[in-house]
Amino acid sequence: MPLFSGRVVSIQPRVSLLRWLDDCAFGYIGYQILVDGVIDGERREFWIGIDEATAQGRRLQFGDSLKGKCELATPSEFVEFSEVAILRVLARVARIGCKAPPWHGVPPPLTTYEERGCRRLTLRAYDDKCQSCIWGAVMLAEMILDRRKPLHRKYRDETYCHGPPTCHLYHRGRSRRVTGKKGKI
Ligand code: SF4
Repeated sequence: MPLFSGRVVSIQPRVSLLRWLDDCAFGYIGYQILVDGVIDGERREFWIGIDEATAQGRRLQFGDSLKGKCELATPSEFVEFSEVAILRVLARVARIGCKAPPWHGVPPPLTTYEERGCRRLTLRAYDDKCQSCIWGAVMLAEMILDRRKPLHRKYRDETYCHGPPTCHLYHRGRSRRVTGKKGKI
C-alpha cells in the first residue's frame, strides 16, 4: 500500500465518462486530488481518488498538506491511486476567498456539479489555467468504437468546466466524438 504526503494543488470532481457515437454518460463518483509531494518514496505530482464523505468531512481544499496510504487505481481510471485507507491533514490553509479564477476553496457537493452540468474545455486551457480550479475536471473517457464489439474500448483524456459561463479563462474548443474505423459507427 503506497504511502504518500504532500500539498493539495487541485481538488476536483472525479467523473467516469462512457462515450459512444455522439452520446455520453457522466457519473460523479467522488473527488480527485492532485498532490505535489512524495508517493512511495518518489517526489512528483500524482492524482488520488477520494470518496465524497472523506473530502467533504475533512473540508479538503487547495493548499492543505496531507499524508496517508492508498492503493493503485485500475488502468481504466484517470487517477493513479485511490482507496485512501488512512488520511491525516497535517496543515490547513486559511479559508480562501478568490476574487478571480481559477477558483479555490472547499469544492461543493457532487450534487451541485451534477446539477450544474459541464461544458467541454480545451486541454490546453485546462493545463494552462484551470487545473487548480474547483470547477474544472479531467477524466478518462471510455469509448465504444464498434457497437458490434461493445467490450472493445479505447480511452482518452477529456477536460471540462462546471463553472460560470462568463469565466474569461474558458475556451470551448472543437466538439468531441467517437469515430469508428470506417468513420462514424
Ligand atoms: S474556465 Fe472553468 S475551470 Fe477554468 S477557471 Fe474558469 S470556471 Fe474554472
